Amino acid sequence: MSTKPENAQPSSVQRPSAKTPSSNPAGKRFASGFDFSSTGQRPKNEPVEAPTPPGLEYTPVPETEGRPLLLPNNLFHKFSESPSPEIRRRAAFMRQNAWCPHPDHQQTRVVSETEAPKKTGTKPPAHVDFDCPDCGIPVACCEEHWAEDYEKHLEVCDTLREINEDDHDLRSGRFFPEFEYPGDQIEEVLVNMTNWDTLLYTREFRAINDERSLRQATRLLTYPATIGSVLHELSPYDLSKNGRLTPEGLKSLSALRYTLHPARTGSSGEVKGIKPAPPPARIFILGARAESSLPREVWVQLTHLFPRVAFHLIFIGPESMANRENEFPLPERTPGNPFGAVVEDRLTNTLKISTFVEYYHTLHKAGQFYPYDPYFDCFMLFHPGLGHPASAHEWEETLPLLLETKVPILATGYTQFDMERDIDWVHKTMGGEVDMLLKPGENRFRSLRWDINDLDPQDISCGNWGVWGFRGKRYAFINKTKSRITANCLQIRNRDQGQLNTSVLCRNMYYIRMHGALYCIMNKRKLLTRQPSGDFPLYL
Ligand SMILES: [Zn+2]
Ligand SMILES: [Zn+2]
Repeated sequence: MSTKPENAQPSSVQRPSAKTPSSNPAGKRFASGFDFSSTGQRPKNEPVEAPTPPGLEYTPVPETEGRPLLLPNNLFHKFSESPSPEIRRRAAFMRQNAWCPHPDHQQTRVVSETEAPKKTGTKPPAHVDFDCPDCGIPVACCEEHWAEDYEKHLEVCDTLREINEDDHDLRSGRFFPEFEYPGDQIEEVLVNMTNWDTLLYTREFRAINDERSLRQATRLLTYPATIGSVLHELSPYDLSKNGRLTPEGLKSLSALRYTLHPARTGSSGEVKGIKPAPPPARIFILGARAESSLPREVWVQLTHLFPRVAFHLIFIGPESMANRENEFPLPERTPGNPFGAVVEDRLTNTLKISTFVEYYHTLHKAGQFYPYDPYFDCFMLFHPGLGHPASAHEWEETLPLLLETKVPILATGYTQFDMERDIDWVHKTMGGEVDMLLKPGENRFRSLRWDINDLDPQDISCGNWGVWGFRGKRYAFINKTKSRITANCLQIRNRDQGQLNTSVLCRNMYYIRMHGALYCIMNKRKLLTRQPSGDFPLYL
Protein backbone atom coordinates (compact mmCIF):
# COMPACT_ATOMS: atom_id res chain seq x y z
CA MET A 1 0.00 0.00 0.00
CA SER A 2 1.42 3.33 -0.91
CA THR A 3 0.91 5.96 1.74
CA LYS A 4 2.55 8.75 -0.17
CA PRO A 5 0.00 11.47 -0.57
CA GLU A 6 -0.95 12.54 -4.04
CA ASN A 7 0.99 15.62 -4.84
CA ALA A 8 -1.92 17.47 -6.29
CA GLN A 9 -0.80 20.90 -5.16
CA PRO A 10 0.71 23.13 -7.79
CA SER A 11 4.38 23.70 -7.16
CA SER A 12 3.83 27.38 -6.55
CA VAL A 13 2.27 26.64 -3.19
CA GLN A 14 4.46 27.91 -0.44
CA ARG A 15 6.26 25.41 1.66
CA PRO A 16 6.35 26.17 5.35
CA SER A 17 9.65 27.59 6.29
CA ALA A 18 10.57 28.33 9.83
CA LYS A 19 10.65 32.04 9.36
CA THR A 20 8.61 33.21 6.47
CA PRO A 21 7.99 36.90 6.96
CA SER A 22 4.40 37.78 7.53
CA SER A 23 4.39 39.82 4.36
CA ASN A 24 2.92 36.95 2.41
CA PRO A 25 0.73 38.25 -0.35
CA ALA A 26 -2.82 37.63 0.60
CA GLY A 27 -3.28 35.63 -2.56
CA LYS A 28 -1.16 32.84 -1.14
CA ARG A 29 -3.56 32.21 1.67
CA PHE A 30 -5.62 29.13 1.24
CA ALA A 31 -9.29 29.11 0.67
CA SER A 32 -9.95 27.46 4.01
CA GLY A 33 -8.55 30.53 5.68
CA PHE A 34 -5.44 29.11 7.26
CA ASP A 35 -1.93 29.65 6.20
CA PHE A 36 0.71 27.14 7.24
CA SER A 37 3.52 29.40 6.25
CA SER A 38 2.59 31.95 8.87
CA THR A 39 3.33 31.77 12.52
CA GLY A 40 1.58 28.71 13.77
CA GLN A 41 -1.86 30.13 14.31
CA ARG A 42 -3.78 27.24 12.98
CA PRO A 43 -7.38 26.54 13.78
CA LYS A 44 -7.87 24.39 16.82
CA ASN A 45 -10.74 22.42 15.35
CA GLU A 46 -8.78 20.95 12.50
CA PRO A 47 -9.59 17.25 12.40
CA VAL A 48 -6.72 14.88 13.08
CA GLU A 49 -7.41 12.74 10.08
CA ALA A 50 -7.34 15.67 7.66
CA PRO A 51 -5.47 14.91 4.43
CA THR A 52 -1.90 16.13 4.28
CA PRO A 53 -2.24 19.88 4.37
CA PRO A 54 -0.93 21.84 1.42
CA GLY A 55 2.73 22.58 1.81
CA LEU A 56 3.48 19.65 4.06
CA GLU A 57 3.82 17.06 1.31
CA TYR A 58 7.53 17.17 1.87
CA THR A 59 7.29 15.71 5.36
CA PRO A 60 8.83 12.26 5.13
CA VAL A 61 6.20 9.58 5.21
CA PRO A 62 6.93 6.73 7.61
CA GLU A 63 8.12 3.61 5.86
CA THR A 64 5.43 1.01 6.12
CA GLU A 65 6.43 -1.51 3.49
CA GLY A 66 6.60 -5.01 4.86
CA ARG A 67 5.38 -3.82 8.22
CA PRO A 68 1.87 -4.55 9.35
CA LEU A 69 0.12 -1.40 10.37
CA LEU A 70 -0.69 -1.96 14.03
CA LEU A 71 -3.97 -0.62 15.26
CA PRO A 72 -4.69 0.92 18.67
CA ASN A 73 -6.47 -2.25 19.80
CA ASN A 74 -3.67 -4.45 18.49
CA LEU A 75 -0.57 -2.92 20.00
CA PHE A 76 0.28 -5.62 22.51
CA HIS A 77 2.72 -8.27 21.31
CA LYS A 78 5.30 -10.31 23.14
CA PHE A 79 8.66 -8.74 22.42
CA SER A 80 10.05 -12.03 21.15
CA GLU A 81 7.16 -12.46 18.71
CA SER A 82 6.73 -8.84 17.76
CA PRO A 83 5.81 -7.96 14.17
CA SER A 84 8.58 -5.37 14.33
CA PRO A 85 12.01 -6.84 13.50
CA GLU A 86 13.64 -4.12 15.58
CA ILE A 87 11.74 -5.14 18.70
CA ARG A 88 12.51 -8.80 18.05
CA ARG A 89 16.18 -7.87 17.90
CA ARG A 90 15.85 -6.11 21.25
CA ALA A 91 14.22 -9.18 22.73
CA ALA A 92 17.14 -11.27 21.50
CA PHE A 93 19.55 -8.78 23.05
CA MET A 94 17.76 -9.03 26.40
CA ARG A 95 17.85 -12.82 26.28
CA GLN A 96 21.59 -12.67 25.79
CA ASN A 97 22.38 -9.98 28.34
CA ALA A 98 19.74 -9.59 31.03
CA TRP A 99 19.74 -11.84 34.09
CA CYS A 100 16.88 -13.55 35.87
CA PRO A 101 16.21 -11.65 39.09
CA HIS A 102 14.98 -14.69 41.06
CA PRO A 103 16.72 -14.90 44.47
CA ASP A 104 17.72 -18.53 43.86
CA HIS A 105 20.40 -17.32 41.47
CA GLN A 106 23.78 -16.09 42.53
CA GLN A 107 24.02 -12.32 42.68
CA THR A 108 25.00 -10.84 39.33
CA ARG A 109 24.89 -7.15 39.90
CA VAL A 110 27.59 -5.30 41.73
CA VAL A 111 26.03 -4.21 44.99
CA SER A 112 26.82 -0.65 45.91
CA GLU A 113 27.81 0.31 49.45
CA THR A 114 24.48 1.94 50.16
CA GLU A 115 22.36 -0.97 49.02
CA ALA A 116 21.56 -3.62 51.59
CA PRO A 117 23.12 -6.91 50.51
CA LYS A 118 20.43 -9.22 49.20
CA LYS A 119 20.35 -12.84 50.10
CA THR A 120 21.81 -14.80 47.28
CA GLY A 121 21.06 -18.32 46.13
CA THR A 122 23.24 -21.11 44.96
CA LYS A 123 22.07 -21.62 41.38
CA PRO A 124 24.33 -20.15 38.73
CA PRO A 125 23.06 -16.91 37.15
CA ALA A 126 20.82 -17.44 34.14
CA HIS A 127 19.73 -15.14 31.34
CA VAL A 128 16.07 -14.27 30.93
CA ASP A 129 14.19 -16.57 28.58
CA PHE A 130 10.53 -16.35 29.52
CA ASP A 131 8.14 -13.64 28.31
CA CYS A 132 5.63 -12.60 30.94
CA PRO A 133 2.23 -13.18 29.30
CA ASP A 134 0.87 -9.92 30.79
CA CYS A 135 3.55 -7.49 29.69
CA GLY A 136 5.28 -9.45 26.93
CA ILE A 137 8.77 -8.65 28.17
CA PRO A 138 11.31 -11.41 28.90
CA VAL A 139 11.75 -11.10 32.65
CA ALA A 140 12.73 -14.51 34.04
CA CYS A 141 14.76 -17.53 33.05
CA CYS A 142 11.81 -19.92 33.15
CA GLU A 143 8.11 -20.00 33.88
CA GLU A 144 8.64 -21.37 37.42
CA HIS A 145 10.91 -18.51 38.42
CA TRP A 146 8.53 -15.99 36.89
CA ALA A 147 5.60 -17.49 38.85
CA GLU A 148 7.53 -17.68 42.14
CA ASP A 149 8.72 -14.11 41.84
CA TYR A 150 5.40 -12.86 40.49
CA GLU A 151 4.59 -10.58 43.40
CA LYS A 152 7.79 -8.63 42.89
CA HIS A 153 7.19 -8.48 39.16
CA LEU A 154 3.66 -7.16 39.66
CA GLU A 155 5.13 -3.86 40.88
CA VAL A 156 6.34 -3.11 37.36
CA CYS A 157 4.23 -5.36 35.15
CA ASP A 158 1.62 -2.72 34.28
CA THR A 159 4.27 -0.18 33.41
CA LEU A 160 6.12 -2.74 31.32
CA ARG A 161 2.95 -3.44 29.38
CA GLU A 162 2.51 0.27 28.76
CA ILE A 163 6.09 0.45 27.49
CA ASN A 164 5.45 -2.56 25.27
CA GLU A 165 2.40 -0.94 23.69
CA ASP A 166 4.09 2.44 23.35
CA ASP A 167 7.04 0.85 21.58
CA HIS A 168 4.75 -0.92 19.16
CA ASP A 169 2.73 2.25 18.70
CA LEU A 170 5.87 4.13 17.62
CA ARG A 171 6.46 1.52 14.92
CA SER A 172 2.83 1.25 13.86
CA GLY A 173 3.27 3.59 10.94
CA ARG A 174 0.27 5.60 12.03
CA PHE A 175 0.10 9.35 11.48
CA PHE A 176 1.55 11.14 14.50
CA PRO A 177 -0.22 14.47 14.94
CA GLU A 178 1.58 14.87 18.29
CA PHE A 179 4.89 15.30 16.50
CA GLU A 180 3.74 18.47 14.80
CA TYR A 181 4.83 21.53 16.65
CA PRO A 182 3.38 25.02 16.87
CA GLY A 183 5.30 28.06 15.66
CA ASP A 184 6.14 31.33 17.37
CA GLN A 185 4.47 32.27 20.60
CA ILE A 186 2.29 35.36 20.36
CA GLU A 187 3.97 37.84 22.67
CA GLU A 188 0.75 38.75 24.44
CA VAL A 189 0.10 35.16 25.46
CA LEU A 190 2.06 34.03 28.49
CA VAL A 191 3.13 30.44 28.73
CA ASN A 192 2.06 28.59 31.84
CA MET A 193 4.71 26.23 33.11
CA THR A 194 2.77 24.54 35.88
CA ASN A 195 2.74 21.19 34.14
CA TRP A 196 2.67 19.56 30.72
CA ASP A 197 -1.02 20.24 30.16
CA THR A 198 -0.79 23.95 30.81
CA LEU A 199 2.42 24.30 28.86
CA LEU A 200 1.12 22.52 25.77
CA TYR A 201 -2.17 24.39 25.95
CA THR A 202 -0.66 27.85 26.32
CA ARG A 203 1.89 27.05 23.62
CA GLU A 204 -1.04 26.27 21.32
CA PHE A 205 -0.14 22.66 20.74
CA ARG A 206 -2.76 20.70 18.92
CA ALA A 207 -4.89 19.24 21.68
CA ILE A 208 -3.50 15.87 22.69
CA ASN A 209 -6.36 13.98 24.27
CA ASP A 210 -4.91 10.53 24.16
CA GLU A 211 -2.52 9.58 26.96
CA ARG A 212 -0.40 7.47 24.67
CA SER A 213 0.11 10.38 22.30
CA LEU A 214 0.96 12.62 25.22
CA ARG A 215 3.57 10.13 26.37
CA GLN A 216 5.13 9.97 22.91
CA ALA A 217 5.15 13.76 22.57
CA THR A 218 6.66 14.46 25.99
CA ARG A 219 9.41 11.95 25.44
CA LEU A 220 10.97 14.34 22.93
CA LEU A 221 9.75 17.66 24.28
CA THR A 222 11.14 16.95 27.73
CA TYR A 223 14.58 18.09 26.55
CA PRO A 224 13.77 21.68 25.56
CA ALA A 225 11.01 21.96 28.18
CA THR A 226 13.31 20.97 31.03
CA ILE A 227 15.81 23.69 30.12
CA GLY A 228 13.10 26.26 29.47
CA SER A 229 11.19 25.54 32.67
CA VAL A 230 14.22 26.30 34.82
CA LEU A 231 15.55 29.32 32.96
CA HIS A 232 12.27 31.08 32.14
CA GLU A 233 11.07 33.97 34.28
CA LEU A 234 7.75 32.16 34.68
CA SER A 235 9.57 29.08 35.96
CA PRO A 236 7.58 26.90 38.38
CA TYR A 237 10.66 26.55 40.58
CA ASP A 238 10.82 29.44 43.03
CA LEU A 239 11.93 30.57 46.47
CA SER A 240 8.58 29.97 48.18
CA LYS A 241 8.34 27.78 51.26
CA ASN A 242 8.18 24.52 49.37
CA GLY A 243 9.91 25.94 46.33
CA ARG A 244 13.07 24.33 45.13
CA LEU A 245 15.10 27.35 44.15
CA THR A 246 17.83 28.40 46.56
CA PRO A 247 18.89 32.03 47.10
CA GLU A 248 22.10 31.27 45.21
CA GLY A 249 19.96 29.79 42.46
CA LEU A 250 17.92 32.97 42.22
CA LYS A 251 21.09 35.00 41.80
CA SER A 252 22.31 32.82 38.95
CA LEU A 253 18.95 32.58 37.23
CA SER A 254 18.29 36.31 37.60
CA ALA A 255 21.49 36.90 35.69
CA LEU A 256 20.44 34.58 32.89
CA ARG A 257 16.86 35.86 32.81
CA TYR A 258 18.23 39.35 32.45
CA THR A 259 19.58 38.20 29.11
CA LEU A 260 16.75 35.89 28.14
CA HIS A 261 13.93 38.38 28.71
CA PRO A 262 15.32 41.68 27.48
CA ALA A 263 13.23 44.80 27.38
CA ARG A 264 12.10 45.80 23.92
CA THR A 265 14.85 47.71 22.19
CA GLY A 266 12.58 49.58 19.84
CA SER A 267 14.61 48.35 16.90
CA SER A 268 13.06 48.22 13.48
CA GLY A 269 14.01 47.27 9.97
CA GLU A 270 15.03 50.81 9.01
CA VAL A 271 18.56 52.14 9.24
CA LYS A 272 17.48 54.52 11.99
CA GLY A 273 16.02 51.68 13.96
CA ILE A 274 19.05 49.40 13.97
CA LYS A 275 20.07 48.51 17.49
CA PRO A 276 23.00 46.35 18.55
CA ALA A 277 21.75 42.81 19.13
CA PRO A 278 23.14 40.95 22.12
CA PRO A 279 25.11 37.81 21.41
CA PRO A 280 23.15 34.53 21.55
CA ALA A 281 22.72 32.73 24.84
CA ARG A 282 24.90 29.65 24.85
CA ILE A 283 23.67 26.36 26.22
CA PHE A 284 26.37 23.72 26.47
CA ILE A 285 24.88 20.25 26.44
CA LEU A 286 27.61 18.01 27.78
CA GLY A 287 27.81 14.27 27.40
CA ALA A 288 25.21 14.59 24.67
CA ARG A 289 23.74 11.36 23.32
CA ALA A 290 20.16 10.91 22.12
CA GLU A 291 19.34 14.58 22.60
CA SER A 292 21.76 15.62 19.87
CA SER A 293 19.82 13.64 17.28
CA LEU A 294 16.40 15.01 18.24
CA PRO A 295 14.46 16.48 15.32
CA ARG A 296 15.46 20.12 15.07
CA GLU A 297 11.84 21.25 15.38
CA VAL A 298 11.94 19.95 18.94
CA TRP A 299 14.87 22.21 19.80
CA VAL A 300 13.22 25.12 18.01
CA GLN A 301 10.51 24.85 20.66
CA LEU A 302 13.04 26.16 23.19
CA THR A 303 13.50 29.35 21.21
CA HIS A 304 9.75 29.92 21.07
CA LEU A 305 9.74 30.21 24.87
CA PHE A 306 12.19 33.12 24.64
CA PRO A 307 11.04 35.01 21.55
CA ARG A 308 13.39 37.98 21.83
CA VAL A 309 16.73 36.22 22.07
CA ALA A 310 18.90 33.96 19.98
CA PHE A 311 20.29 30.64 21.18
CA HIS A 312 23.40 28.71 20.38
CA LEU A 313 23.15 25.07 21.47
CA ILE A 314 26.48 23.33 21.71
CA PHE A 315 26.43 19.54 21.94
CA ILE A 316 29.66 18.16 23.33
CA GLY A 317 30.77 14.63 24.02
CA PRO A 318 32.28 11.55 22.43
CA GLU A 319 28.81 10.19 21.68
CA SER A 320 27.29 13.40 20.43
CA MET A 321 26.96 12.09 16.88
CA ALA A 322 25.14 8.92 17.91
CA ASN A 323 22.22 8.20 15.55
CA ARG A 324 23.40 10.86 13.14
CA GLU A 325 25.19 8.53 10.74
CA ASN A 326 23.96 10.35 7.64
CA GLU A 327 25.94 13.42 8.67
CA PHE A 328 29.25 11.56 8.55
CA PRO A 329 32.06 12.07 7.76
CA LEU A 330 32.71 14.85 10.21
CA PRO A 331 34.08 18.12 8.82
CA GLU A 332 37.83 18.22 8.49
CA ARG A 333 39.78 19.82 11.31
CA THR A 334 41.02 23.13 9.97
CA PRO A 335 42.54 26.18 11.68
CA GLY A 336 39.10 27.80 11.48
CA ASN A 337 37.36 24.73 12.89
CA PRO A 338 40.07 23.03 14.94
CA PHE A 339 37.78 20.41 16.45
CA GLY A 340 35.84 19.50 13.33
CA ALA A 341 32.56 20.75 14.75
CA VAL A 342 29.35 20.12 12.83
CA VAL A 343 27.71 23.52 12.61
CA GLU A 344 24.04 23.92 11.74
CA ASP A 345 23.75 27.61 11.27
CA ARG A 346 20.47 29.39 10.77
CA LEU A 347 18.12 26.57 11.59
CA THR A 348 15.91 29.53 12.29
CA ASN A 349 16.83 33.18 12.77
CA THR A 350 17.35 32.53 16.45
CA LEU A 351 18.82 29.04 16.66
CA LYS A 352 22.23 27.68 15.83
CA ILE A 353 23.47 24.23 16.80
CA SER A 354 27.08 23.08 16.91
CA THR A 355 28.23 19.57 17.71
CA PHE A 356 31.69 18.64 18.98
CA VAL A 357 32.70 14.98 19.11
CA GLU A 358 35.18 15.59 21.88
CA TYR A 359 35.43 15.63 25.64
CA TYR A 360 34.49 18.95 27.16
CA HIS A 361 37.69 19.25 29.16
CA THR A 362 39.74 19.12 25.96
CA LEU A 363 37.77 22.03 24.49
CA HIS A 364 37.85 23.95 27.74
CA LYS A 365 41.61 23.68 28.01
CA ALA A 366 42.00 24.80 24.40
CA GLY A 367 40.02 27.93 25.26
CA GLN A 368 37.44 27.11 22.59
CA PHE A 369 34.52 28.83 24.33
CA TYR A 370 36.37 31.39 26.39
CA PRO A 371 35.24 33.72 27.96
CA TYR A 372 32.34 32.27 29.92
CA ASP A 373 29.67 34.60 31.16
CA PRO A 374 27.05 33.70 33.78
CA TYR A 375 24.74 36.17 32.04
CA PHE A 376 24.82 34.32 28.76
CA ASP A 377 25.92 30.76 29.40
CA CYS A 378 24.45 27.67 30.96
CA PHE A 379 25.55 24.04 31.12
CA MET A 380 23.01 21.28 30.72
CA LEU A 381 23.77 17.67 31.63
CA PHE A 382 21.02 15.26 30.56
CA HIS A 383 21.39 12.04 32.59
CA PRO A 384 25.15 12.48 32.87
CA GLY A 385 25.73 9.46 35.11
CA LEU A 386 28.20 11.51 37.15
CA GLY A 387 28.24 8.94 39.90
CA HIS A 388 27.66 5.87 37.73
CA PRO A 389 30.55 3.46 38.18
CA ALA A 390 30.93 3.15 34.40
CA SER A 391 31.08 6.86 33.61
CA ALA A 392 32.24 8.66 36.76
CA HIS A 393 35.89 8.58 35.71
CA GLU A 394 35.01 10.41 32.48
CA TRP A 395 33.61 13.33 34.45
CA GLU A 396 36.46 13.60 36.94
CA GLU A 397 38.48 15.91 34.77
CA THR A 398 35.49 17.89 33.51
CA LEU A 399 33.70 18.77 36.73
CA PRO A 400 36.35 21.08 38.29
CA LEU A 401 36.51 23.02 35.01
CA LEU A 402 32.73 23.46 34.97
CA LEU A 403 32.75 24.77 38.53
CA GLU A 404 35.58 27.14 37.70
CA THR A 405 33.40 28.96 35.15
CA LYS A 406 30.76 29.87 37.82
CA VAL A 407 28.15 29.29 35.14
CA PRO A 408 24.98 27.48 36.27
CA ILE A 409 24.93 23.74 35.65
CA LEU A 410 21.60 21.94 35.32
CA ALA A 411 21.45 18.17 35.49
CA THR A 412 18.80 15.49 35.20
CA GLY A 413 18.58 11.84 36.17
CA TYR A 414 16.66 8.82 34.89
CA THR A 415 15.38 7.92 38.36
CA GLN A 416 15.62 9.21 41.90
CA PHE A 417 18.40 6.71 42.57
CA ASP A 418 20.35 7.79 39.50
CA MET A 419 20.03 11.46 40.40
CA GLU A 420 20.99 11.04 44.05
CA ARG A 421 24.01 8.99 43.11
CA ASP A 422 25.15 11.89 40.90
CA ILE A 423 24.61 14.44 43.65
CA ASP A 424 26.50 12.36 46.19
CA TRP A 425 29.36 12.00 43.77
CA VAL A 426 29.54 15.75 43.13
CA HIS A 427 29.62 16.48 46.85
CA LYS A 428 32.16 13.76 47.47
CA THR A 429 34.53 14.82 44.70
CA MET A 430 34.22 18.60 44.99
CA GLY A 431 33.46 18.98 48.66
CA GLY A 432 32.55 22.55 49.59
CA GLU A 433 33.26 24.01 46.16
CA VAL A 434 29.63 23.67 45.08
CA ASP A 435 26.63 25.98 45.52
CA MET A 436 23.26 24.27 45.12
CA LEU A 437 20.99 26.29 42.81
CA LEU A 438 17.98 24.04 42.40
CA LYS A 439 17.14 21.44 45.02
CA PRO A 440 16.84 17.98 43.52
CA GLY A 441 13.37 16.62 42.91
CA GLU A 442 11.00 15.35 40.30
CA ASN A 443 11.05 17.26 37.05
CA ARG A 444 7.68 18.76 36.15
CA PHE A 445 8.57 18.27 32.52
CA ARG A 446 9.90 14.76 32.67
CA SER A 447 9.08 12.39 29.88
CA LEU A 448 5.74 10.79 30.67
CA ARG A 449 6.87 7.73 28.79
CA TRP A 450 8.77 5.04 30.64
CA ASP A 451 11.67 3.12 29.16
CA ILE A 452 13.18 -0.28 29.83
CA ASN A 453 16.82 -0.90 30.47
CA ASP A 454 17.51 -3.70 28.00
CA LEU A 455 20.21 -5.04 30.29
CA ASP A 456 17.76 -5.36 33.16
CA PRO A 457 14.11 -5.28 32.07
CA GLN A 458 12.84 -4.78 35.62
CA ASP A 459 14.73 -1.51 35.84
CA ILE A 460 12.42 1.17 34.44
CA SER A 461 13.22 4.83 34.10
CA CYS A 462 12.13 7.86 32.20
CA GLY A 463 13.85 10.68 30.40
CA ASN A 464 14.72 13.57 32.73
CA TRP A 465 12.84 12.10 35.69
CA GLY A 466 14.51 14.46 38.12
CA VAL A 467 16.19 17.83 37.78
CA TRP A 468 18.65 19.77 39.95
CA GLY A 469 21.15 22.55 39.53
CA PHE A 470 24.49 23.67 40.95
CA ARG A 471 27.53 25.78 40.15
CA GLY A 472 30.98 26.62 41.43
CA LYS A 473 30.89 28.42 44.75
CA ARG A 474 30.92 32.19 44.64
CA TYR A 475 32.51 34.10 47.45
CA ALA A 476 31.17 37.27 49.03
CA PHE A 477 32.14 40.55 47.44
CA ILE A 478 35.03 42.34 49.02
CA ASN A 479 33.80 45.85 48.35
CA LYS A 480 30.39 46.62 49.78
CA THR A 481 29.61 49.51 47.47
CA LYS A 482 30.18 47.41 44.42
CA SER A 483 27.93 44.66 45.59
CA ARG A 484 25.17 47.11 46.39
CA ILE A 485 25.32 48.45 42.87
CA THR A 486 25.14 44.98 41.44
CA ALA A 487 22.13 44.21 43.55
CA ASN A 488 20.51 47.53 42.66
CA CYS A 489 20.82 46.87 38.97
CA LEU A 490 18.85 43.70 39.24
CA GLN A 491 16.29 45.18 41.57
CA ILE A 492 15.64 48.14 39.36
CA ARG A 493 15.12 45.90 36.39
CA ASN A 494 12.69 43.77 38.27
CA ARG A 495 10.76 46.61 39.76
CA ASP A 496 10.58 49.07 36.97
CA GLN A 497 12.02 48.07 33.68
CA GLY A 498 11.44 51.48 32.25
CA GLN A 499 14.06 53.05 34.51
CA LEU A 500 16.92 51.04 33.23
CA ASN A 501 18.89 51.62 30.09
CA THR A 502 21.45 49.09 29.11
CA SER A 503 23.64 48.51 26.17
CA VAL A 504 25.65 45.42 25.60
CA LEU A 505 29.04 46.35 24.25
CA CYS A 506 30.72 43.02 24.21
CA ARG A 507 30.13 39.63 25.70
CA ASN A 508 30.53 40.74 29.28
CA MET A 509 30.56 44.49 29.42
CA TYR A 510 27.53 46.73 29.84
CA TYR A 511 26.69 50.34 30.37
CA ILE A 512 23.87 51.08 32.71
CA ARG A 513 22.28 54.43 33.47
CA MET A 514 20.92 54.63 36.93
CA HIS A 515 19.99 57.52 39.20
CA GLY A 516 21.16 59.91 36.49
CA ALA A 517 24.68 58.47 36.44
CA LEU A 518 26.29 56.16 33.98
CA TYR A 519 27.94 52.94 35.09
CA CYS A 520 30.08 50.64 33.10
CA ILE A 521 29.83 47.22 34.50
CA MET A 522 31.96 44.24 33.72
CA ASN A 523 30.13 40.97 34.06
CA LYS A 524 27.57 42.86 36.16
CA ARG A 525 30.00 42.30 39.01
CA LYS A 526 32.71 44.87 38.76
CA LEU A 527 32.18 48.59 38.65
CA LEU A 528 34.61 50.09 36.20
CA THR A 529 33.78 53.74 35.68
CA ARG A 530 31.13 56.18 36.68
CA GLN A 531 30.23 59.29 34.75
CA PRO A 532 28.32 61.95 36.62
CA SER A 533 25.90 62.64 33.80
CA GLY A 534 25.59 62.53 30.08
CA ASP A 535 23.62 60.87 27.43
CA PHE A 536 23.47 57.19 27.10
CA PRO A 537 25.96 56.26 24.43
CA LEU A 538 25.12 53.71 21.85
CA TYR A 539 28.72 52.95 21.00
CA LEU A 540 31.83 53.91 22.87
ZN1 LIG B 1 15.68 -17.82 37.18
ZN1 LIG C 1 4.66 -8.83 33.33
